[in-house]
Amino acid sequence: MRSLQSEVEQRGTRIFELIDQHPGSLFSKAGFYQRMMALSMRDEQFKVQMFRFVDVLPSLRKSGDIIQHLEEYFAGMRNGFAPVIQTGVRVARFVPWISAFILRRNVSGMARQFIAGKNCADVMKTLRKRHAKKIGFTVDLLGEAVLSEKEADEYAARCLDLLECLARETQGWTDPLGKNSELFPVVNLSVKISALYSQMNPADPTDAIAHLTPKLRPILRRARELGAFINFDMESYAHKNITLELFKTTFGEGEFKDWPDAGIVIQAYLRDAEADLRKLIDWGGARGTRFTVRLVKGAYWDFETIKSRQNGWNCPVYFQKPESDLNFEALSRLLLENESIVTAAFGSHNVRSIAHAQALADELGIDRSRFEFQLLYGMAGPIKRALVEMGYRVREYCPVGELLPGMSYLVRRLLENTSNEGFLRAKFSENVSAAELLRDPKELIRQNRANLPEATIPAIAEDRHPKNGASIEPPPGDIYENSPLVNFVYQESQEKMRIALREVRNRFGEKYPLVIAGEKVWTDKLTPSVNPSAPKEVVGYVAEAGIPEAERAVKAARAAFGKWSRTPFEERARLLEGAAAIMDRRRYELAALEVFEVGKPWAEADGDIREAIDFCRFYAERMRQIGRPRLTQHVPGEESYQHYWPRGVALVIAPWNFPIAILCGMVSAALVTGNTVIMKPSEQSIICGAMLMEIFQEAGVPPGVLNFLSGRGSVIGAHLVDHQDVDLIAFTGSREVGLRIWESAGITRPGQRELKRVVCEMGGKNPVIIDSDADLDEAITDSIYSAFGYQGQKCSALSRLILLDENYDRVMERLLSAARSLRVGNSEEPGIMVGPVIDEAAYKRIQEYIEIGKSEATLAYQAKEVPPEGYFIPPTIFTGVKPDMRIAREEIFGPVLSVIKVPDLDEAFEVANGTDYALTAGFFSRSPANIDRAKAEIEAGNVYVNRSCTGAIVGRHPFGGFKMSGGGTKAGGADYLLQFLLPRVVTENVTRHGFAPEEVPEYRDEFL
Ligand SMILES: Cc1cc2nc3c(=O)[nH]c(=O)nc-3n(C[C@H](O)[C@H](O)[C@H](O)COP(=O)(O)OP(=O)(O)OC[C@H]3O[C@@H](n4cnc5c(N)ncnc54)[C@H](O)[C@@H]3O)c2cc1C
Repeated sequence: MRSLQSEVEQRGTRIFELIDQHPGSLFSKAGFYQRMMALSMRDEQFKVQMFRFVDVLPSLRKSGDIIQHLEEYFAGMRNGFAPVIQTGVRVARFVPWISAFILRRNVSGMARQFIAGKNCADVMKTLRKRHAKKIGFTVDLLGEAVLSEKEADEYAARCLDLLECLARETQGWTDPLGKNSELFPVVNLSVKISALYSQMNPADPTDAIAHLTPKLRPILRRARELGAFINFDMESYAHKNITLELFKTTFGEGEFKDWPDAGIVIQAYLRDAEADLRKLIDWGGARGTRFTVRLVKGAYWDFETIKSRQNGWNCPVYFQKPESDLNFEALSRLLLENESIVTAAFGSHNVRSIAHAQALADELGIDRSRFEFQLLYGMAGPIKRALVEMGYRVREYCPVGELLPGMSYLVRRLLENTSNEGFLRAKFSENVSAAELLRDPKELIRQNRANLPEATIPAIAEDRHPKNGASIEPPPGDIYENSPLVNFVYQESQEKMRIALREVRNRFGEKYPLVIAGEKVWTDKLTPSVNPSAPKEVVGYVAEAGIPEAERAVKAARAAFGKWSRTPFEERARLLEGAAAIMDRRRYELAALEVFEVGKPWAEADGDIREAIDFCRFYAERMRQIGRPRLTQHVPGEESYQHYWPRGVALVIAPWNFPIAILCGMVSAALVTGNTVIMKPSEQSIICGAMLMEIFQEAGVPPGVLNFLSGRGSVIGAHLVDHQDVDLIAFTGSREVGLRIWESAGITRPGQRELKRVVCEMGGKNPVIIDSDADLDEAITDSIYSAFGYQGQKCSALSRLILLDENYDRVMERLLSAARSLRVGNSEEPGIMVGPVIDEAAYKRIQEYIEIGKSEATLAYQAKEVPPEGYFIPPTIFTGVKPDMRIAREEIFGPVLSVIKVPDLDEAFEVANGTDYALTAGFFSRSPANIDRAKAEIEAGNVYVNRSCTGAIVGRHPFGGFKMSGGGTKAGGADYLLQFLLPRVVTENVTRHGFAPEEVPEYRDEFL
């Protein structure tokens, strides 16, 4: 008996022979597309620019805009094609409309390469031709990202229409193999689950399934009546578990339990794939009705690797291409071995993967009419033809829709077809030999491993994604690794959070002391902290400090300063790392506490704890970098060393909106630099403050070095700011209080040793500009999140959306329906985006602003349904806002968005810069020239291009603004610690009678 490998080779060779009998190109259409692909494969810079140009083109309406973008993308290219392109650009300048027309036609042609038709009537022309060639179809509706329930309902309606049309038009069509045709209905529709529900949140599968089931049912019912097949496509990893769960729920019970014409996709590039497939097969066995699995490798490899690296998540996909190939083969076996339960559809263009499935089916004695091969429209025509000739069932995946919504699909295909790793490129562009292409992936993995030292194997993905930037010096943010965010896509994470919420709830009402000089201090007053989602619930109580406790705290801090300031910075850094480790251990519990105490949605609460951990680790590393006295300059005969001393007693006054992160950031910076600290949390987040104190105590902070005072800002805060023995004030909060502190600290009082240093972070009135060529899927999703995430209570939140006349209507239509679809509710529920505002005072103040808005501008949208109890403000959008109106100038700190319409980009920048604040700003555009302008001109401490304007990450986005947003400090940045330090230089003349040592050490530790 021959081995499976030789069977694979034999079948593979046969496929190649058949391909070579009808030499065709890789893609069905030649011309412009072929040329572009050839150029892209030769030049990475061209490829990036070309893909970006293709991405923006459909959204450009005027010829002039097209030419301008062409010029911006290609004119400056420094490569072999530059002269050709530059000539093209010059010609285009003279005859813009002709050039624009030609360009648009060529790019549309390129898209038509992969999009089978605009609508059903259009696609039927293709399907008929394929049918004549014995190729079946599955049709997929292309769509923009679904941002609202309106758009989701439209998608569902289009699916129904398409089903009707396909069924009508294919009446009388027969199965090409005429055998086992009942397993393969003629009409086959591929559905994208994320397009049916706009608020799908990985943390909340129950909500997603509850919303998706009623939308799917009419489609499935109609499909069943029409004898059609429905397939659930698989999208990014964030949606995978929900899609699997939805499939099992929908087809596991009731109406559709005995319906066999349903399928789902398994992506072999996922490490989870085998476990998922095994569970599906078990489920199918128990269900007792057949179903189908389309096995693919997966279309989002680049996206998944980028996303997981950005968030510090375990990467869900394999790093090496042969690993995906091997897994595809292992899963092929699993599918075919369970043929009595599941029908297999192999979705691949890779001849090795296809030949392997064929050989395996033969080995297991499975007739070739009982499974099928599926390939994409517009690709690998010769392979399809070969498979038909060999007597296999072939189905083509045919996307239907308009060019603009088809862009992300097109870009995925372009990426796939130019990928260095791809089979099609290797076969059709690089003419790699059949023998090489048919090699066993196991062998390739073995070979890769043999060629690499053991330690570097996990780092293969790193090689593929070199760090940004070309400098050899690592940038400051690279000195440590950010802690990963919790990935709520996993059931385990969701369960841990639920348990933590239960446990924290069980501790409601507990009392916490002040901590002064390491001792617990109780006073005769207790301050309650309530749950803003349910104000009758008291999360806990903390003893309230008055002036006597404030005095004791200053004394304790002053007394502890001498020793702490001389404690080696390494020890201080380890204290921070110890605190970070404890926060990591208590991560879910702390996040749950934030959900209750300040109404943060799950992911936001987790992000806050992550940031606190990052602050500790980043500042610890930073201190190690700057802690040692360092030679200032090489000069003979003299040694000068600069180093730092701590300033003294630091008062930390923090806000409630990032109740652990900001408090911890300021405290850890003060501690690691050798200052002693009085920590005063916001009155609305005192339990979080008490927890942070507990954490630092457990980490071993010496008595008096960190003191915890909870009390009223107007009493103890004001007293301490003015105190002669306080040397530094680190404050984050409102402009009103910040300015008072700034002013008061400027007064030198009797007995004061130092000029007080104020580290001051205040609010913002942050603008986002959406340019006329912006990607609206992205711009609207991110604007909604920036404005309404955590109820607009982030100092970085978007509050002024600046739109150009030109695309105002288009943006507003989608923006308003996206806002209408937002989930408002108790933050304890997973997946809530808009929870309560912090307290009654905030609630009233925001309501007042809404009334002001109603009198100044036009109320364009206000949510109607919010929970009856709790401090819930409905998301609110005003239009017709002018830059000088109060709602456009004053910080509201709530879910209220002002939309300002401007005639052009010049005015957009003017309006963006025309407030007292300069904290964050956002700009959405696909014009390189306009992006450059935004980078240069927007007045903000943090300018974000083509992404949300909130969510700064320690080390990556040093955070803080100027003008009335703050004193220009950058929390989480390389320079932040310097504000907590006094620089000092010691110079020694080391010359003795004209003799000086030649060697001078770079660092000297003796005067630390
Ligand atoms: C009919 C059909 C339906 C499809 N439906 C879906 C769907 O619902 N969901 C979906 O996600 N995709 C889907 N795809 C897309 C499919 O995932 C890609 O077309 C496919 O991955 C290309 O694989 P291949 O076997 O044709 O080519 P090959 O060239 O053999 O494989 C390329 C694939 O290998 C993987 N890969 C690339 N680089 C690496 C690396 N460094 N390490 C590990 N793996 C790597 C990627 O998945 C890449 O797409 C479908 C494809 C077809 C044909």
